[in-house]
Amino acid sequence: MKLTNLALVLLRLLGLYFMVQGVAGAISAVVYSTMLFADEASYTAVSTLAFPASRFAWSSVSLLLGLYFFFGARKVVANVIEGTGPHCNRCGFDMSGVPGGQCPECGAPPAGAEQ
Ligand SMILES: [Zn+2]
Repeated sequence: MKLTNLALVLLRLLGLYFMVQGVAGAISAVVYSTMLFADEASYTAVSTLAFPASRFAWSSVSLLLGLYFFFGARKVVANVIEGTGPHCNRCGFDMSGVPGGQCPECGAPPAGAEQ
């Protein structure tokens, strides 16, 4: 389905964006910290460490969010967009037109068979 595929691509792009942001932010925080510690006069001040610390924290959140959006995109789309047809309960694979009901993606048994 077109809408599903578009949402999937957009989510993956968003995930990629967050991952890049996270990695770039972490690198810049490390570089900034290294510069701070190289300058002995400044690293004794606790307030100067607050910036790289908060930046590092945000980078981690951004990276995790990115990983979730990127790798969980299919499941997110399946859960968020309703009325897109049948999909696998385990991995969110689009099950429309799949004979037997067993998921070809992850091998999950037909819906209802699993207790
Ligand atoms: Zn599946």
